[in-house]
Amino acid sequence: MQYQGSCQCGKVAYEVEGEINEAYSCNCSRCARLGSLLWFAPREKFNLLRGEADLTTYKFNKNVIEHRFCKHCGIQSFALGQDPRGNKMAAINIRCLEDFVVESVPVKQVNGKEF
Ligand SMILES: [Zn+2]
Repeated sequence: MQYQGSCQCGKVAYEVEGEINEAYSCNCSRCARLGSLLWFAPREKFNLLRGEADLTTYKFNKNVIEHRFCKHCGIQSFALGQDPRGNKMAAINIRCLEDFVVESVPVKQVNGKEF
């Protein structure tokens, strides 16, 4: 399944391939404020279509996750990082996907406070 994602103003857009069957709600100091619902895909399944120059990167704590948001509209539609085994991953904010019903997948709580 191919999903299309974008920021609010549309300068940033991407596509990502996979099957979204669950989402994560994280309680870290950033996700808790943003209300992001995340799903993780291997980095090679993620393709930024446009907006590289429109993205700003924010890092905090251990600086392992690149929180990338549009500098025009402020929406963080994805982030880049690694899983615990060191595989490069894309964290997709499924609220930013087109034609995806967020309520169609179960949401798991993740204790990300220490990340
Ligand atoms: Zn934007």
